[in-house]
Amino acid sequence: MQVIRAARAFDGERIVNGPVAVFVAQGRIVGLEPAGAPVPDGWQVVEHPGATVLPGLFDLHSHLGGDGLDGALDRLPDYSPDRLDAVITDSLRRQLAVGVTVVRDLGDRDWSVLRRRDRAADGTPAPRILAAGPPITSVGGHCWRLGGEAAGPDGLRAAVRERAERGADVVKVMGSGGTMTPGTDVMRCQFTLAELRLIVDEAHAAGLPVTVHAHGLSAVEQALDADADGIEHFTCLTDRGVRISDDLLHRLAVRRIAVCPTLGTNPDVVPPPAVREMLERIGATPEVRFGHVARAHRAGVRIVSGADSGISSGKPHGNLPTAIADLVAGGVAAAEAIASATSVAADATGLGDRKGRLRAGHDADLLLCAGNPLDRIEALTAVTAVMVGGVWADLA
Ligand SMILES: [Zn+2]
Repeated sequence: MQVIRAARAFDGERIVNGPVAVFVAQGRIVGLEPAGAPVPDGWQVVEHPGATVLPGLFDLHSHLGGDGLDGALDRLPDYSPDRLDAVITDSLRRQLAVGVTVVRDLGDRDWSVLRRRDRAADGTPAPRILAAGPPITSVGGHCWRLGGEAAGPDGLRAAVRERAERGADVVKVMGSGGTMTPGTDVMRCQFTLAELRLIVDEAHAAGLPVTVHAHGLSAVEQALDADADGIEHFTCLTDRGVRISDDLLHRLAVRRIAVCPTLGTNPDVVPPPAVREMLERIGATPEVRFGHVARAHRAGVRIVSGADSGISSGKPHGNLPTAIADLVAGGVAAAEAIASATSVAADATGLGDRKGRLRAGHDADLLLCAGNPLDRIEALTAVTAVMVGGVWADLA
């Protein structure tokens, strides 16, 4: 039983000016009160003067088997089981250090992250894992080396059923090619609309949501038409550059599709040649893309944050605060940018009744950062303490 006192709180949706006190017992939040609230006998008081307390963050697009160095997804398929497990351990540690307490893995190899999720916890605080297993992709398609190739109605149905049987939390489909897989085309769809619809229907019948990797505009539209629940990257490429119509944004907003734009590239790192070539082809600097996403947000599209963490040196684990800062750079209000990685992310993944908000009854997953990220979003990188399920993480 403890009371955490801080200068202010962000409760998952809005700022609560303080000083405030978060009461925690049995791994749950008991209340968010003014700092002067009486403390019952026997409760420990932890003081964080000047700090902001927030719900733990969600990174909704991660590759925990990626080591965060260039070529990570090329190395991943060749790791031994022990090596892969060690990489996952290190990735989780880096995520936790920046306050990520829920991480959604959208592409592993050999079900390694699913197995890690199910392994008995040893009591050490770690991010909660949501996992897709290997992404479903076409034969020779994007990230085929992760082992998720499938073709034909029977093959696609079997692929979805295998994920359901293995307990995946979400089905990830490679709707278009990707920059990291030679021979695939980011502009083109990898499946027909009928095939994608079959995947979505089969997943929904098994109670699983589907999120679609989509760089090309045609893949974004196909995901919408197939009734997918989420869209990753949302680059909206066409042969004539990026095209995002008001009508598209309207349809996404009405359908409440969770769009994860995978911002958050370390600005100090020069992108790999394939990515640089794509950026040049579309004539879009990162700043232009931030603006596109902010425009979608203004149009009412449900934006969630994920960093595509682990795939390269520009996208290491722990880069999520940069993805949030990029939303602010594009023009999204800081509170709404942080909500995209807390309350909105929790609701979009079905965890909103337990996580994503500082609310009585919710899991005591929280972070403290020095200063006020609502005034200066970079404060979110100055994490001083992280708690998971009422237990403080050792950040040393
Ligand atoms: Zn990814």
